[in-house]
Amino acid sequence: MDKQRDFVLRTIEERGVKFIRLWFTDVIGTLKSVAIAPAEVEGAFAEGIGFDGSAIEGLTRSFESDLLAQPDPSTFQILPWRGEIDPTARMFCDLTTPDGRPAVSDPRHVLRRALAKAADAGFTFYTHPEIEFYLLKSAQFGPEGPVPVDNAGYFDNVPGGTAHDFRRRSVRMLEDLGISVEYSHHEGGPGQNEIDLRYADALTTADNIMTFRTVVKEVAIEQGVYATFMPKPLSDQPGSGMHTHLSLFEGDTNAFYQAGAEYQLSITGRRFIAGLLRHANEIAAVTNQFVNSYKRLWGGDEAPSFVTWGHNNRSALVRVPMYKPNKGQSTRVEYRAIDSATNPYLAYALMLAAGLKGIEEEYELPREAEDNVWSLTGSERRALGYTSLPASLDHALELMEDSELVAETLGEQVFNYVLLNKRKEWEAYRGQVTPFELKSNLGLL
Ligand code: GLU
Ligand code: MG
Ligand code: MG
Repeated sequence: MDKQRDFVLRTIEERGVKFIRLWFTDVIGTLKSVAIAPAEVEGAFAEGIGFDGSAIEGLTRSFESDLLAQPDPSTFQILPWRGEIDPTARMFCDLTTPDGRPAVSDPRHVLRRALAKAADAGFTFYTHPEIEFYLLKSAQFGPEGPVPVDNAGYFDNVPGGTAHDFRRRSVRMLEDLGISVEYSHHEGGPGQNEIDLRYADALTTADNIMTFRTVVKEVAIEQGVYATFMPKPLSDQPGSGMHTHLSLFEGDTNAFYQAGAEYQLSITGRRFIAGLLRHANEIAAVTNQFVNSYKRLWGGDEAPSFVTWGHNNRSALVRVPMYKPNKGQSTRVEYRAIDSATNPYLAYALMLAAGLKGIEEEYELPREAEDNVWSLTGSERRALGYTSLPASLDHALELMEDSELVAETLGEQVFNYVLLNKRKEWEAYRGQVTPFELKSNLGLL
């Protein structure tokens, strides 16, 4: 008997766990869950648990409707918000077809495949997300729009406010679930918070992000508020990004580090950034998958709008963060377009593929952007060769449709499904007559 499986079975018995939730994620990034009884777990390890894949929107086409969920014992954790009485645990699953092949529609498999490709080239991919979100009084709202829980700002200490208790409780729960938190603080917008997870391999991080969203939602319910990862819930306030720090390791060595080089960045690191820049627009429909995502990207407030890189430049799409001399292992690059509502499995697979392409094809890194790119005029930007990120989901989908890199990395099925789903969203959106149009046109025309 496999040691990890054995540990899970023993823990279920010793702790009196009554329900085991099997978790997986659909193509759009929605967490799916099926609960099984303790007596079923051994069988689930041996054969998987069958379910009707076609019943789950976003997961499969109907001809591949029989799927098996195979629990990954390394992800076993007891869910702290369910309490001590009749404990509930969860495991993430890999999805397979009945004959045991990985299900091509499973986002976790898409990321595994991308990671295996990196491993063939000798690399392990590490990620560290800064997750921003808003706490609102309620999901319901009146004519004034959603109401945040406070009026505080960046790094503010809010005595007696909701945010403190909220972060303390969330961080505690995350730690109980084996997810290490590096920082947590109030963010720039009213009611906006950020929690940064410690770096881990990308598959673990993607699982952790899915867990994180659930924890934050649960704690919000407990405290009588509402948490949202919507990219731009308030028109005049910053959006919620999920800047992610990326690094490649070769064994124990950080492949982005080179002592004495500019920003301690190796040629591998430079090419990785060049790959991210060259393919940023093609992958945007996944890193920024909602109509609303583009309101964030084009709303200023430290969200990037242009394809540039820089060192201390917060308008840049890719930033090489401040480094500490002699701390080469922490050399990394920060990708700033990605937002808090992405499917982390697909987004990380694509960011990795873009960076690896830069390494494989030896892309040249363009000149660093030193200026605040927003303060330049359009023609100044063009003269400097700075292109724009897509302005809308429609534009992003057009670019994705033509992308070999995205088709290859997601695989045909996920590629088509994302396009289909997101086209539907765009069509529904563009048929809307918005309050903006009514306000600006109705009295005049
Ligand atoms: N909220 C900003 C964004 O949408 C990021 C602010 C920051 O630099 O942390 O990307
Ligand atoms: Mg932030
Ligand atoms: Mg950041």
